[in-house]
Amino acid sequence: MDTITELAASVMVSLCGRGAAPDRRLRPGQETDTIVVMAIHPIVVYGEPVLHRRAEKITEFDDDLAELVRDMHETLDASNGVGLAAPQIGVGKSIFVFNADDDYGVRRRGTFVNPVLIASKVPDTRPDPDEETEGCLSVPSLDFPLKRADRVTVNGVDESGAPVTLSADGWFARIMQHEYDHLQGTLYVDRLDKRWSKKWKKAQEAHGYNQPGLSWMPGVDPDPFGH
Ligand SMILES: [Zn+2]
Repeated sequence: MDTITELAASVMVSLCGRGAAPDRRLRPGQETDTIVVMAIHPIVVYGEPVLHRRAEKITEFDDDLAELVRDMHETLDASNGVGLAAPQIGVGKSIFVFNADDDYGVRRRGTFVNPVLIASKVPDTRPDPDEETEGCLSVPSLDFPLKRADRVTVNGVDESGAPVTLSADGWFARIMQHEYDHLQGTLYVDRLDKRWSKKWKKAQEAHGYNQPGLSWMPGVDPDPFGH
C-alpha cells in the first residue's frame, strides 16, 4: 500500500558514520569544479540525541528556512519515504515534510512548520500486524505494529509563514502522527505495546540502534526498506 508498509525484512543495511557522508552543498558563488552539488542530507538513526528531544519552534521565515525545507523534500524523495522530520537530518527544528497518497488515492505533498496536532482517541486494542505496521527512516530496516488514532487535524504554517490546516484519517493520519511525534522527540518504537516493545529492544541491540553516530545516505547507501 504505502512505502511505510512495503518493508523488506531481509535487506542488509549499510550504515555509514556521520563523517563518511559529508553534506557538500554549495553556497552561492562557490566554485563547482571539485564539489558535487548536493541537497540530500544523511538521515540519522535512533540513538542520535537530536531525535530524542523536543524540536525548537521556528521564528525566522527566511531564505535559510526555505532552503532547509527544499533539502528536506529532496531528501525525502531520495529516501523513498512518505514523511521526514527535521530532527531526522540532524536539525532540531519544528518542521516536517510529507509526500504520500491518502486513503482516497489523492497525492498529498506538503510542509508543516511549528505544527500542532489534534487526534482522536487511540483505540485500546491490539494492533493488526498486517494493517497497522509502521516503519521509520531513522530505524532502518525494521517495522513494528502500532495502534494509532484514526483521525487527526494538523494546524501549522508553511515555510513562508502562511497557515496550513490538514485533516486526515486512516493511513495518512498515521503519517501525520508519526511525523508530529518526531518533533516531540518520540519515535514510533517508543510507543510500542509490551509485546512488540520486547522485540524492538532485541532488534535495537542487534542493530546497534542505541548509541549516537549512525546515519545513512539516501540514494547512496542501499535502501534500508528495499525500495
Ligand atoms: Zn520516522
